[in-house]
Amino acid sequence: MLINLMNRRDDLCGLCAFAVNNESMKADLKGMSLAETQAWVEENELPAYRARQLRHWVFKARVGGFDEMTNVPKGLRALLAEKARLKHLEEIKKEISRDGTTKYLFRLEDGHCIETVLIPERGHFTLCVSSQAGCAMNCLFCLTGKQGFKRNLTSAEIVDQVVQTRRGMDDPERLTNLVLMGMGEPLANYDAVLKALNNIIAEEGMNFSHRTVTLSTCGLVPQIRRLGKDTKVNLAVSLNAADEETRSYLMPVNRTYPLVELIPALQSFPLPNKRMITFEYILIKGINDGDEDARKLVSLLKRLRAKINLIPLNPHLGLGLEAPPPERILQFQEILVRNHFTAIIRKSKGQDISAACGQLSGGTAGRR
Ligand code: SAH
Repeated sequence: MLINLMNRRDDLCGLCAFAVNNESMKADLKGMSLAETQAWVEENELPAYRARQLRHWVFKARVGGFDEMTNVPKGLRALLAEKARLKHLEEIKKEISRDGTTKYLFRLEDGHCIETVLIPERGHFTLCVSSQAGCAMNCLFCLTGKQGFKRNLTSAEIVDQVVQTRRGMDDPERLTNLVLMGMGEPLANYDAVLKALNNIIAEEGMNFSHRTVTLSTCGLVPQIRRLGKDTKVNLAVSLNAADEETRSYLMPVNRTYPLVELIPALQSFPLPNKRMITFEYILIKGINDGDEDARKLVSLLKRLRAKINLIPLNPHLGLGLEAPPPERILQFQEILVRNHFTAIIRKSKGQDISAACGQLSGGTAGRR
């Protein structure tokens, strides 16, 4: 214990020297929970109501700086400028697809880039949010994996994708749905993702309904078990194959957490009334698109409250894999439907700007 403390002190000493003129040591309001904001307010001898007031400005009013906090007295705004920060992602590119899908390229403070995709649906928008710069999972079909893992995003960087996108919208309230399905594996960045989700669904935070927020995972079993206890957001699982051999070929994570462990973890995942787990299944010609594959999928998922999203593979350069022809996709769907599954063929939006599933690369800008 003593040794630990001493080590910590050493670390802190190093950091303090650094802190003198380092912005990153200031309290980052967008990355703090309600309890942390309340503690910060108390430390600075401010009245308790300031915590919720600050969070209102940050998450609901989406201010760009402390000066915009018009009901906060000037003295407090000066204190905030000195001791806190309102970091925001730098939008360096925005591309709009023929179908209205918008892809944002954001630069992080250290120069890494991430992508966020705004998808128009009937009457509302869905935002596809990234959780890591790059990804370590190395799925065969995914472009993000090809660039390798850069780093985890902070909870502020995850939340800020929503804040910055909303700031650019004519009617920000029409962005009602979020999917953590962009770059990265959210459950490999568990703590930051959970903290971001809590600020996203908190009534005094961004106030999204947990029913309209979905986290998609490649299947990290221990974290799936934790997630069910920690939050009520929807769960999606990228399945992509119904037997161990094919799944391990497509998704190396299956060698660590095979289907034989994943499926029981999903069976014990707590689901609110009428809620289902979404299974994403990319259809790849000649690999996982046969009638036999569909029947294996039926048998694998038979004891789960499952709905299945069939995603014809989105191609990218040098992949060497193809989507099946339309009649094969329909036949695959037919087998699932005949066995009483809800199975939807997802037309990927934003293909012309490489904004579709598996096409996010963090741009060509890379590191500065
Ligand atoms: N790591 C998380 C979220 C990021 S991947 C996960 O695995 O779920 C988001 C979705 O894009 C996954 O369902 C994945 O299977 C899908 N995807 C990846 N590459 C794709 C491609 N080339 N075509 C279609 N979907 C793809």
